[in-house]
Amino acid sequence: MTAATDPRPSALARLWRYGRPYRRRVGWATVHSVLNKLFDLAPPLLIGLAVDVVANDGDALLDRLGMTTQRSQIVGIAVLTFVVWAFESLFEFLHNLAWRNLAQDLQHDLRIDAYGHVQELEHAWFQERSTGDLMAVLNDDVNQLERFLDIGANEIIQVLTTVVAVGAVFVILDPTVAVLAIAPMPLILYGSFWFQRKLEPRYEAVRGQAGFLNGQLANNLLGISTVKSFTAEARETERIAGESDRYRETNRRAIALSSAFTPLIRMAILVGFTGTMVWGGFEAIRSVTDDSGSLSVGQYSVLLFLSQRLLWPLTQLGETFDQYQRAMASTNRILDVVDTEPRIVSGPDRLDLAKGQGRVTFEDVTFSYDDAGPALDDVRIDLPAGRTTAIVGPTGSGKSTLVRLLLRFYDPDAGRVTIEGRDVRDLDLGDLRRLTGLVSQDVYLFHGTVRENIAYGRPDASLEDVVAAATVAEVHEFVMGLPRGYDTIVGERGQKLSGGQRQRISIARAVLKDPVILLLDEATSAVDNETEAAIQRSLDRISTDRTTLVIAHRLSTVRNADVIHVLDGGRIVEQGTHDELVGREGPYAALWAVQTGEAVRHER
Ligand code: ADP
Repeated sequence: MTAATDPRPSALARLWRYGRPYRRRVGWATVHSVLNKLFDLAPPLLIGLAVDVVANDGDALLDRLGMTTQRSQIVGIAVLTFVVWAFESLFEFLHNLAWRNLAQDLQHDLRIDAYGHVQELEHAWFQERSTGDLMAVLNDDVNQLERFLDIGANEIIQVLTTVVAVGAVFVILDPTVAVLAIAPMPLILYGSFWFQRKLEPRYEAVRGQAGFLNGQLANNLLGISTVKSFTAEARETERIAGESDRYRETNRRAIALSSAFTPLIRMAILVGFTGTMVWGGFEAIRSVTDDSGSLSVGQYSVLLFLSQRLLWPLTQLGETFDQYQRAMASTNRILDVVDTEPRIVSGPDRLDLAKGQGRVTFEDVTFSYDDAGPALDDVRIDLPAGRTTAIVGPTGSGKSTLVRLLLRFYDPDAGRVTIEGRDVRDLDLGDLRRLTGLVSQDVYLFHGTVRENIAYGRPDASLEDVVAAATVAEVHEFVMGLPRGYDTIVGERGQKLSGGQRQRISIARAVLKDPVILLLDEATSAVDNETEAAIQRSLDRISTDRTTLVIAHRLSTVRNADVIHVLDGGRIVEQGTHDELVGREGPYAALWAVQTGEAVRHER
């Protein structure tokens, strides 16, 4: 029966290695599964005994045990049957309890492990995976394994027990019958192996397609406003239908094969069963007629009953293998995630800075996301401590990339980023991210209250602190106007709030976090003029005496910065104060002319 337990050493071995702390419990559960099956197989033996007691004038062993009459022997067998069934029930309860609790604990650990690990992985990894596919791994695949451990593992162990126990009884009763009954086994095993090999890739395909479909669904639901605004509903339904159809098709390929399994196995078993029936029957007839046969009538009934008992679970094997295959495909997908080595790992050095410190330098930094050209090309920028430095430049010039390198969402290909002269790669990631606060234009609010969202970086902050931060971010009055004030639920992704309100809440978040280094990435670009002015006021307030990096394409937001760097195509093309740059008639002056011209046009 190795086919059932070891068709794909890698997945099972990986699971075995992962589940090291569970091994004792697996052993415990296995013992109960085996005992339950042994007690389950005992009644046919007792039936055979009862038949012999009636047909052959009593049983010698029972006689020696003090049951001298046929009637007392039958009563004795009945009592024994009662005890056997009671034990069968007890062990069924115990193995169910053991396996199902094991399944629960393992699925919980695996899911939390995988999720925790995913959080450690770098941004580049997430870009290669769709969120929906990841969700499929963290939910469906984990549940698939849970289902297998719930019932499949027990079934495999019980089939094994049946084959061994029934095989032993056959050998004891009549070796010829044993050969007949066991003859089809190699064929069955070979068939199972064959089916498994064929099924494995088909199930992998099913799981892959399920993940893909999940990804498409998640994408569409997240972008539901876009879908609606372009009246693309019909088109999207069609696209999802196409993917769902592919899922159905990949499943069909697996179904066709797995459905053929049980009937084919049953045919093979039939050969053994009919052989037992005929051969054993002839032996029993000879015993009755001239006492020359090797089987009594009772033994013959035992053989027939047990052949049935052997046949039944083997026909179930198909389904169990099916589940096993699915579980192993899932195991591989989960453990692939768990085993992914993070490429951005925390450095050893701790760093604690006070407000006003935190000089940042980009030293000859070159970086590209993939095979495309460099997003940053030999960039050298100095952000003096306690000052405001601005980066301007056209879309795609690499401004946000600077922030991502400083926060170590990515590491540079060449050069280094430092804080107070220390390479950020040497710093403890937790310290690095505690020291920095990012306000960007895509604000993410979590489903929860306004207060929880503002206090996201400091969950233990008092309401007074939250209110103070909200006041600096000029969002306090707005919050007080909400039906439940700071306890108002903002909805998933904060969708019950306007863009400007979300932005102000994200600024309050940064204020409360009180970082040494503040990073403002287009923090005002997505809001109306009035909100922009409000946000600008609060940003001016919180960037005072704090190392601040402002990224903007609206130059009005950066004109007060201590230094402005102009980035184009991943290179610094100009730097200086606003007045210097305007006087220089370079790219900055040109941009300024365009934007103030725009402003004039707006006013008219
Ligand atoms: P900016 O902030 O100036 O608009 P970015 O720093 O976001 O520009 O991007 C710089 C360049 O890198 C752009 O050409 C952009 O297409 C590319 N880029 C940005 N993010 C990624 C990414 N995750 N993968 C691949 N290319 C990216």
